[in-house]
Amino acid sequence: MGLVYIDGKFVPEEEAKISIFDHGFLYGDGVFEGIRAYNGRVFRLKEHIDRLYDSAKVICLEIPISKEEFMELILETLRKNNLKNAYIRPIVTRGIGDLGLDPRKCSKPNIIIITKEWDRLYGDLYEKGLKAVTVAIRRNAIDALPPNIKSLNYLNNILGKIEANEKGGDEAIFLDSNGYISEGSGDNIFIVKNGRVYTPPILNNLRGITREVVIEIIEKLGIPFKEMNLGIYDLYSADEIFVTGTAAEIAPITVIDGRKVGDGKPGEITRRLIEEFKKITESEGTPIY
Ligand code: PMP
Repeated sequence: MGLVYIDGKFVPEEEAKISIFDHGFLYGDGVFEGIRAYNGRVFRLKEHIDRLYDSAKVICLEIPISKEEFMELILETLRKNNLKNAYIRPIVTRGIGDLGLDPRKCSKPNIIIITKEWDRLYGDLYEKGLKAVTVAIRRNAIDALPPNIKSLNYLNNILGKIEANEKGGDEAIFLDSNGYISEGSGDNIFIVKNGRVYTPPILNNLRGITREVVIEIIEKLGIPFKEMNLGIYDLYSADEIFVTGTAAEIAPITVIDGRKVGDGKPGEITRRLIEEFKKITESEGTPIY
């Protein structure tokens, strides 16, 4: 059974408990990350930790340890669990407070690190492609709860997922409140049209670390690329669509709202990117051991 880091200690999974008065539980007041380890190396660890601390800063949550200490704790958790290929879930909650909202009443943030053996999120759909559906629920507005914060409040994403499940989709695609394409419920979105790759600017979606890696690959391969606002028309007329995320990696979408994307099979550019991405994840990263 796995060991989890919680509140300064390593404890067996089923003994890892948080208080019902923790505002992370009561109000979703906290931040988190999703990180992967491949072949004994943690992929883009520093980037994930930077994003965690940025999310925390935006919600005025002071993480009580340094970034270096946090990274070392993650490596230590992986070592304690003997993991080489894993999904890593660091969480920082506001901590224990009273039943009111005021974060000033919370004594100290609680740091939790969960690590799990991990395989591919979408199984055989990487070859077949995913069915995606646009959902009626809009992504959180940038001036309400900025989607750039990776907060513990994922109810907006969950509402999208519920709607996608009801519509028989593997993934939900959100529009923002202006009707621009935002992202998936747990991944960023790209489209390919006439040999060019497009993705929405990061204002209305999470600043995906996989998204950044994919942009680096696109630029290295010399594929024309542009960040721009995209709408329903761009989605429905795309030659290829794919989503990117730590858990999803690069996943092709072959049906969108019942319409075939391109010829209904994962496209050529998507497949090239998947291949390059695999090479990078297998060769880069912070060594665990
Ligand atoms: N958008 C959302 C809403 C997500 O939850 C995730 C997963 N963290 C992503 C995009 C992709 O981000 P990353 O590539 O950093 O995992």
